[in-house]
Amino acid sequence: MKCVAIKDVKKFEIKDILEPVADGESVLIDVKKTGICGSDIHYWVAGEPAGLVMGHEFCGVVTDPGNRSDLRAGDRVTALPISPCGNCPACLTGNPQYCPETWSNAVGLSLTCPGGLAPKIKVRSDMVIKVPDTVSDEEAAMVEPASVGLHSVHLANIKVGERVLVIGAGIIGLVTAMFAKMEGASSVVISEPNKERGLKAVRLGVADSWYDAKDTKMIETLKVETKGGFDVVIDCCGNSPAVTTALATVRPGGRVVLAGVSLGTVTIPTVVAVMNEVTVQGSIGYTKEEFETTLKLIETKKIDVNKFVDDIVGLEEVQRSYERLTSGNDSAVKILVDPNK
Ligand SMILES: [Zn+2]
Ligand SMILES: [Zn+2]
Repeated sequence: MKCVAIKDVKKFEIKDILEPVADGESVLIDVKKTGICGSDIHYWVAGEPAGLVMGHEFCGVVTDPGNRSDLRAGDRVTALPISPCGNCPACLTGNPQYCPETWSNAVGLSLTCPGGLAPKIKVRSDMVIKVPDTVSDEEAAMVEPASVGLHSVHLANIKVGERVLVIGAGIIGLVTAMFAKMEGASSVVISEPNKERGLKAVRLGVADSWYDAKDTKMIETLKVETKGGFDVVIDCCGNSPAVTTALATVRPGGRVVLAGVSLGTVTIPTVVAVMNEVTVQGSIGYTKEEFETTLKLIETKKIDVNKFVDDIVGLEEVQRSYERLTSGNDSAVKILVDPNK
C-alpha cells in the first residue's frame, strides 16, 4: 500500500509498504482521517528517523477487531497512539503519559508502528476507543490533540475568575485556550508571532485578545494591563523566548505550565521564577480518562473541534501541507489527511 514516509530534511516520499496483517490481538483499521500534528513537524524538519510513517491522530473503520470482543468489523474507532507498559508506577497510577515505554512503540511516532499517513494501520487493542455515530471522522481525529490541551489545563488547575495567558496559537494553543475558558478563566489572552494565527484565535472565540510575540514591548504591556501578571501562563511553544515570556508574565505566586516541547536545551532566566515563587509544571500527552472525556465533550457538543480544521488533503498533498503549516504567514493550524483521497 502507498504511504507517506520521512525521507530527508523537510522531505517526504510516497512509497510502498506492506499492509499490516491480523495477529489475533491488535486491531486492524482502515484509516479515514489523520491529523498533522506539531510534533510531527519536528520530525519532518529534522528529516529523521528516515522511513518513519507518521500520523498518530486518526480515525478509521475496524477491519479486524483482534482480541477485542466488544468490537466488530465496520465499527468506527480512534485510539491513544501510545504504548504504555501497564505495570510501572506511572501506569498503575493512571499516568501512562510518563511511562518509560509510552513512546517506544507509539503509532506514527516510532518505526515499529507506522501511523495514519497510510490507508491501513495496526493498533494495540487496549488503546482503541469506539467512536459514537454522532461524532464525525474529522472530530474523532481531533480527540488526540484536543486531549493534550485538556491535560495541560487540568495541570494548570485554573480557578474560576483567573486570568490566563496561552503562548502559541498553533492547534495545541487553541484547544488549550478553549479548555481554559471552559474551566472558568475570566480572560484568556494568546500570544503568537504569526498575525494570521493570532487573529484567528480571537475570531474562533477561544481567546479574548491576541498579542504579537514579535513585539519587544509585549511583556511590559501585558504586565501593565494585568497589573502584575497572569494567574496562569501555559506555554504551548517550548523555545527559549516563549518560556522566558511565560516566567516574565506570570504574577508572583502564579503557575506556569510548560506544554511546548523543545528537544534542545532551553536557556531561561530562572531568577524570575525564584524571586516570584512561580510554580512550574511540565505537561505531556494525556491520561486515558482525559482522552475519553474529550471524546465525550465532542459527542455532547460541549466543545466544537470542527472549527479548527482548515483543510483535508490526500497523501500527495502532505508535503505541501507541511510547508504551509511552517510558512509562518498562513493561518492554517490543523490539516487532516485522507489517505484514500
Ligand atoms: Zn499530536
Ligand atoms: Zn508503564
